[in-house]
Amino acid sequence: DVLVEVRDIGKRYGNIIALSDVSTSVRAGEVTCVLGDNGAGKSTFIKILAGSHAHTDGTLLVDGQERTFSSPREALDAGIATVYQDLAVVPLMPVWRNFFLGSEATKGSGPLRRLDVPFMRKTAKTELAAMGIDLRDVDQPIGTLSGGERQCVAIARAVYFGARVLILDEPTAALGVKQSGVVLKYIAKARDRGLGVVFITHNPHHAHPVGDRFMLLRRGRSLGDFAKAELSMDD
Ligand code: ADP
Ligand code: ADP
Repeated sequence: DVLVEVRDIGKRYGNIIALSDVSTSVRAGEVTCVLGDNGAGKSTFIKILAGSHAHTDGTLLVDGQERTFSSPREALDAGIATVYQDLAVVPLMPVWRNFFLGSEATKGSGPLRRLDVPFMRKTAKTELAAMGIDLRDVDQPIGTLSGGERQCVAIARAVYFGARVLILDEPTAALGVKQSGVVLKYIAKARDRGLGVVFITHNPHHAHPVGDRFMLLRRGRSLGDFAKAELSMDD
């Protein structure tokens, strides 16, 4: 079940080519890893999928439909959610409050406006537990959680708000070995719940255990796009 297909995508800024001829796909229940060092084009790739920057070449297909996103809202409406490295959290607010931050639940005048505090607390608790997140107390300020736990809350939140494709921008980059392991576990959880995950990382050791597909970027170009089976050295 292909959710997103990227065909020969490119991005030019004036006459600077940030990305060219990049192809890969994102399937439901799979993790597509996008690997590359600094300057490889990873951020540009994310921006195209997340709707921050429109591509200038190639084709982006979402659910088989050709799309060019011109705003993050459009990407979100298409079911593509992005968790950035510098999470937009309010450190002193409780975890549950951050879980609903910026959501329809806390603004506007629609039916969701009526969601109350006990509901939000309970929902955040249930959703975090479903993702296997062991939080002693969703009432504690999110700033007291580790970086890994905060990433996990953000992942759980995107899942709850209906993302079908989850883009993770270097979620393990700022973390130690143990915390990275924790985040990798939650990436696997999101995958097992049927999401298509795009895991952006410069670290092959993090990509390897969870990846189903690997795309390698270097200086704005793809060095290849492989399914795990194609890379298997075991047989
Ligand atoms: P990465 O995230 O892998 O470090 P980027 O996508 O940020 O890579 O950058 C890829 C290349 O495109 C780099 O050479 C970068 O300098 C260039 N680039 C990115 N954004 C712009 C921009 N707005 N204008 C010009 N060049 C850009
Ligand atoms: P943005 O602000 O677009 O979300 P970044 O934080 O990655 O993205 O980059 C800061 C700004 O610098 C962006 O406008 C980006 O496009 C731009 N930029 C990155 N690399 C270059 C470059 N080589 N030349 C010109 N602008 C660049």
